[in-house]
Amino acid sequence: MLAQRTSMFKSSGTAAARAAAKAAADAGKQIVDLTAGEIWCDLAPTIRSGAIEAIQKGVNRYTDTIGLAELREALARKVSLDTGQGWKSDEIAVTSGAKQALFNTAMVLLNPGDEVIIPSPYWTTFPAQIMIAGATPVFVETRSSGYVPRIDDIEAAVTERTRAIVINTPANPTGAVYDVQTLISIAELANNRNFWVIFDECYGDFVHGQQSHHPIVTLVPEVRSRTVIINAFSKSLALTGWRIGYLAAPKDVVNAVKALQSHTTSNPNVIAQHAVLAHLHQSDGVYEGRLRSRLASARQAGLDVLSALSRVPVPKAQGGFYFYLDLSDLLNPGTVNGAAVTADDVVNSLLSEAGVAAVSGTAFGDPAGIRISYGIPADMLETGLSRLVEVLNAWK
Ligand code: PLP
Repeated sequence: MLAQRTSMFKSSGTAAARAAAKAAADAGKQIVDLTAGEIWCDLAPTIRSGAIEAIQKGVNRYTDTIGLAELREALARKVSLDTGQGWKSDEIAVTSGAKQALFNTAMVLLNPGDEVIIPSPYWTTFPAQIMIAGATPVFVETRSSGYVPRIDDIEAAVTERTRAIVINTPANPTGAVYDVQTLISIAELANNRNFWVIFDECYGDFVHGQQSHHPIVTLVPEVRSRTVIINAFSKSLALTGWRIGYLAAPKDVVNAVKALQSHTTSNPNVIAQHAVLAHLHQSDGVYEGRLRSRLASARQAGLDVLSALSRVPVPKAQGGFYFYLDLSDLLNPGTVNGAAVTADDVVNSLLSEAGVAAVSGTAFGDPAGIRISYGIPADMLETGLSRLVEVLNAWK
């Protein structure tokens, strides 16, 4: 018999969608996989040479639990540049991806019975980790407000048990980018009502069109003492498999994270740490620029194909590398055998009829949405989206 805790989570919905796509491909079907939460591209040359150099030097030992001192210093400089404020290395912890940074944050900030506000649709791991920490997620609906929460709705969700809010901008899965006024209002509310802001900016480098990414601590410096910034190189340097993330937070949070990590994973992989350090020292920004322009053209090419959608609004896709489709008009009021039709049914049809794999919004708390990743090669993207448009336009 397993621990009761195991009833609070199941394997991530995005991983399940990827597995379904792989199973169909293994069974011999031609699948266009639009489920990826990562960008398909070459390794940055500085990462490659940094890792090779570390291996050739024979680097093999534990580092400090929360990362090499030089890496934490380089990250403190990066966060200082990103936020326009002074940050020191004792306010930084290096983690095995942003996922561990978030998990550590949940474990050191939340008590059983605490509530954490999460705008919905949400990245599937946020509520799972909060529940593992014994706290309760409280969702605030955003579909009717362009996937950015209304401040009144957040305020209505605050109780005396509210311990934190999770802000993810640009957002996975919706691609929404929070505007300045919303961020300022959230920061002021957090200050007035005394709760933490967990600010996940993993997609902060990928903002398209007119908007920009704004760290909340830059807009309202007074919120810094109650903010944990979460970031990683997984998306910004297309390094998902290398597992280097970090958090920037008040020192007592960092110290608690260090103690926790010393009993769980210890330091993140040492070669990956050296590679990222080499990149931070040597990068001229060319690789990042190429990545951004690749995504910008994939986004435009994708939007061109999606403009043929006749019954589903074309997504705004302001940030990240996801198109999020709102199928509520298409599905409403459909039923199959008396049960409501959801995005799961659409995703299953897409896979079986058109060989296109996408992630159902049920993984993100939204049975009327689907997420499509455009971080894949251009020809595959075009084929996949054209087939998807055909299926959705013909949906009965
Ligand atoms: N935060 C968000 C919003 C994400 O979408 C993801 C990955 O998909 C992560 C965190 C985790 O990133 P990492 O691979 O660095 O653990």
